[in-house]
Amino acid sequence: MEKKVAVVGAGLVGSLLSVYLARRGYKIDVYERRGDLRTGNLAGGRSINLALSERGWNGLRGIGLEEEIRKISIPMSGRVIHHVNGEIDFQPYGKEGQAIYSVSRLGLNIRLMELADASENISFHFDEGCVRADLEKGLLGFENQKTGLFSEVETDLIFGSDGAFSALRLSMQMTDRYDYSQTYLEHGYKELSIPTTADGNFAMHQNALHIWPRGGFMLIALPNLDKSFTCTLFFPFEGEKSFSKINTPENLLQFFNETFPDVVPLMPTLVEDFFNNPTGSLMTVRCFPWAYKDKVLLIGDAAHAIVPFFGQGMNCGFEDCTVLEELMNQNDKDLGEVFRKFELSRKPNSDAIAQLALDNFIEMRDLVGDKKFLLRKKIEAEINKKYPDQWLSQYSMVTFSNIPYSEALRRGENQRIIMDKVMQIPDIENKWNSEEVMNRIKTEMGN
Ligand SMILES: Cc1cc2nc3c(=O)[nH]c(=O)nc-3n(C[C@H](O)[C@H](O)[C@H](O)COP(=O)(O)OP(=O)(O)OC[C@H]3O[C@@H](n4cnc5c(N)ncnc54)[C@H](O)[C@@H]3O)c2cc1C
Repeated sequence: MEKKVAVVGAGLVGSLLSVYLARRGYKIDVYERRGDLRTGNLAGGRSINLALSERGWNGLRGIGLEEEIRKISIPMSGRVIHHVNGEIDFQPYGKEGQAIYSVSRLGLNIRLMELADASENISFHFDEGCVRADLEKGLLGFENQKTGLFSEVETDLIFGSDGAFSALRLSMQMTDRYDYSQTYLEHGYKELSIPTTADGNFAMHQNALHIWPRGGFMLIALPNLDKSFTCTLFFPFEGEKSFSKINTPENLLQFFNETFPDVVPLMPTLVEDFFNNPTGSLMTVRCFPWAYKDKVLLIGDAAHAIVPFFGQGMNCGFEDCTVLEELMNQNDKDLGEVFRKFELSRKPNSDAIAQLALDNFIEMRDLVGDKKFLLRKKIEAEINKKYPDQWLSQYSMVTFSNIPYSEALRRGENQRIIMDKVMQIPDIENKWNSEEVMNRIKTEMGN
């Protein structure tokens, strides 16, 4: 008998997953709490654009969407660092031709939903918020967000792609010996915008991710297709410099003029944006297991929400879909076994990227403006040029490859130990690319 499959949550991961599952012949009902994004319902307070990198492309490649999405995304080949004194530095992310891509969250989600909707195996049910789940019986309870009416469906198989505050996960938490933690950052985020210039152009270099690192907090900006930029201020909730202290247009402008002077003239709606846009919070969710027998599987943020500083949350969720697809290709007769293998292989990797994302916040807000750090990156780029097979930077492993996150974490840690020693070499500033230094690195790498 054909299995009845429910996917709860039609966000980025749930929509992609549905397409993968439908291609296997499953008949899928997708339940989404929001209205249909395609009819003008907004994305719901999350970031307007996202950085898409190799793991995300890989997920899209598998369903034939890569080329189409590349056409509506903007390559960012490096970081532009804006210093307080107005100086600017450019740091490439990888080799010539490598880039991460800025893409509209809404545009990508809509395209994935359109593709899913074109499949006769997929039916969408909007405004249906899952409020209850009986994992053993496969019963899902929904409250319609418009009518308030409650309904129940019985299914054989449930995928919980309902995001960081997953209702499915909450039901799993009620089971015996369930591990769960959620940890908030003391920083929140606020989206601001830089419109096009008067003559309709980008106000800054368009093929870069812009960062204003200020030690303890930062502002970033990603380009949009309409030639505007969406900026995000990552800032503490409380303290001397914090959201709690900025409560009038005057102290907002004073703070921005002192801290981000080059950006103020580019943000004509700064005051409105700051006081009208919500302040989002950021958290890491760790839980285990992700599966309940052969009946329920958590995927994407529902299983592993992370902070956004490596730009990997969605990319990791898309990688979940490709890993699941591979495991199902090997054996889709025993889903209990597939789910077990899936959670065992993905958990160490999602833990690793959760850690890397937290560490990258420190790099972005504190270090990218630091001269020693920049020298370190220059030396690493040189080592990579000389020994490309032995030295791939941690950033490249995470962003431009499909090397498991846990391996990127481990190899990056070894590289850090070597680089700490290299940076201690006297007069390293002047002889960083000398034969002496390169030979020392070669020895440290064990050649
Ligand atoms: C500020 C910010 C910037 C980010 N930048 C990046 C980036 O540059 N690159 C990147 O890779 N990642 C980024 N991320 C992370 C990325 O947004 C998430 O990892 C990604 O959205 C996860 O997709 P998902 O489908 O698992 O969850 P979501 O996108 O949260 O989708 C979950 C869906 O489930 C629905 N839902 C929720 N509860 C229920 C329920 N009870 N019943 C039915 N439906 C429900 C929701 O309405 C939603 O549609 C960023 C995150 C933030 C906050």
